[in-house]
Amino acid sequence: MLSKQTFPNYMQMRHRVPQSFWQICRFLMVGMGYGLIITSFTRPEMALFIFWRVIVPLLPLLMFVAPGIWRNVCPMGALNQAPRMFKFGRSLTLPAWLKNYAHVIGIVLFIVIVPTRKEVFNTSGPALGILLFAAFTAALVGGYFFKGKSGWCATLCPLLPLERLYGQTPFVNVPNAYCKPCVGCVKNCYDFNPALANMADQQDADRRNSRFRRLFAGMLPGLILGFYLIPDPPQISGVAMYEWIGFFMLISVGLFLGLEVLFKRSAMRLPTLFGAIAFNYFYLFNLPVLAETLHQLFGVSLPLSLLWVGHGLIFALSALWIYRTYRKENQYQHLAASRSAQNQVSLIQSRSIPIRASKVS
Ligand code: SF4
Repeated sequence: MLSKQTFPNYMQMRHRVPQSFWQICRFLMVGMGYGLIITSFTRPEMALFIFWRVIVPLLPLLMFVAPGIWRNVCPMGALNQAPRMFKFGRSLTLPAWLKNYAHVIGIVLFIVIVPTRKEVFNTSGPALGILLFAAFTAALVGGYFFKGKSGWCATLCPLLPLERLYGQTPFVNVPNAYCKPCVGCVKNCYDFNPALANMADQQDADRRNSRFRRLFAGMLPGLILGFYLIPDPPQISGVAMYEWIGFFMLISVGLFLGLEVLFKRSAMRLPTLFGAIAFNYFYLFNLPVLAETLHQLFGVSLPLSLLWVGHGLIFALSALWIYRTYRKENQYQHLAASRSAQNQVSLIQSRSIPIRASKVS
């Protein structure tokens, strides 16, 4: 049965977890984040292991299944919201030029940082520490100057494009535990309504957001495949490595655009399909990494057959995700006819969210 609650925003969802729990988690995550930065200088091998062989392989799965958990406890998010929480921020509105291009900056940062991992961050603890410290500081400074999450989490963060793609149809809905109240700091806000944010982008009169997000989805499988198939420097030169990964991304985007022209499917279908392919590529290479991590930490050796079961589960999960996302779009179209979904989209596109929210809830 469809209703206007089919796509509840975070104010309409049930908040099952007490705020104090999130607060404790955030303090711990910020502490562990800075601990990791210090470790990357003092014991680089350990920091590199924890970051690249435990955190990074697990993070996309969390974004895919329960993105709200990560959005509520991410240390960058906690730092970004600290000025608001402790009431020392300036709460400025993002300048128009930054508002228009912040999401592009986030995408470019992601595209630059990922291949640079092969050249620098994979092997240099101090470089990883500097990267994390820079990201933490940018999140804090952005939170000090700009209102809501507009200074980092909802705009510039290089993880946001991935979160919006993988987290568009969460299996477990965990509502935004920040933003009390919502100050309407960005339009088409993912934290306001994860299920509708991408559809709101598609409906936006300003097509920049949706075009760049579609291109991001289109190039992601190529980026991941290139990253894992191209050898690391010094086996090839740094320039050749960037060129090859760029080539993989171009092929991927070309395929995406070709399919878009050939099969004029609805706006959400192709990015969703490419998102699922990227997710499977990632775990094709990272399930063995996780198995090796288990072995190194606990001496547990997983049989090869179990690894294939893992790949099968990732495939099944993403197939279900595609089905749920397509179904969501159909539901949206049904609701749009009765204008309930349209109201919700207008709501997250609006800058005066709290006022309009009261009309819907
Ligand atoms: S638009 Fe509202 S919900 Fe979204 S980040 Fe800004 S304050 Fe939070």
